[in-house]
Amino acid sequence: MSGQRGFLSIESKNIFSILKKWLYTEQDIVFRELISNASDAIEKLLTVQMADKTAGCYPQGKITVTLDGEGNRIIISDNGVGMTADEVNRYINQIAFSGAADFINQYREEQQDSIIGHFGVGFYSAFMLADHVAIETKSYLEEAAAVRWDCKSDMAYEMTTGARTSHGTDVILYLNKDNPYIEKADTVHDIIQKYFLFLKTEIYFDGPNF
Ligand code: ADP
Ligand code: MG
Repeated sequence: MSGQRGFLSIESKNIFSILKKWLYTEQDIVFRELISNASDAIEKLLTVQMADKTAGCYPQGKITVTLDGEGNRIIISDNGVGMTADEVNRYINQIAFSGAADFINQYREEQQDSIIGHFGVGFYSAFMLADHVAIETKSYLEEAAAVRWDCKSDMAYEMTTGARTSHGTDVILYLNKDNPYIEKADTVHDIIQKYFLFLKTEIYFDGPNF
């Protein structure tokens, strides 16, 4: 696919700075949101498979959380439905911000420390931990091309040809320079246990202490 650039459809320019304020207080959010999305994507693929007997037989759903200390990255991968370029446009560039926008509006109204705990910030919570977030995705639809999406905290995104060869999605968090998270494999493990102990999908950890 030829490259595409654009600006995210939200008025608030403060969204990233507000999201980042929660970094040290509400660390769980990012994992909660991104792993929920991965799990949803796997469920959607199962639904497709059950609805359409002619659909392929997909491998067992699997989520992997990788802490890459050297690259200063956290990667949340799934082998779910994935997204076409069109879906990235619709669900990430246009829609996903609405959850974050609601959050900002609520934050302005209430200024409560606990607010984020009750709020689905969604995909854009990724920017609480990262300056740069990338998505590598490929739809389960056979003809779909792999897509890469990059956004560097300035409301502008770029879409290019992706690297995935099988269906699913990797969300790659390029961590802020001063982010101590990468050394906290235990914390990440605890968070995942806390929220996803009863998750049906298999979840794997890959990192220095796992
Ligand atoms: P919500 O999960 O409430 O719909 P999000 O902001 O978390 O909102 O995600 C927005 C949309 O982006 C999802 O509804 C889904 O269509 C798409 N999406 C996000 N993560 C993934 C993923 N890992 N695989 C496939 N689609 C995804
Ligand atoms: Mg979600």
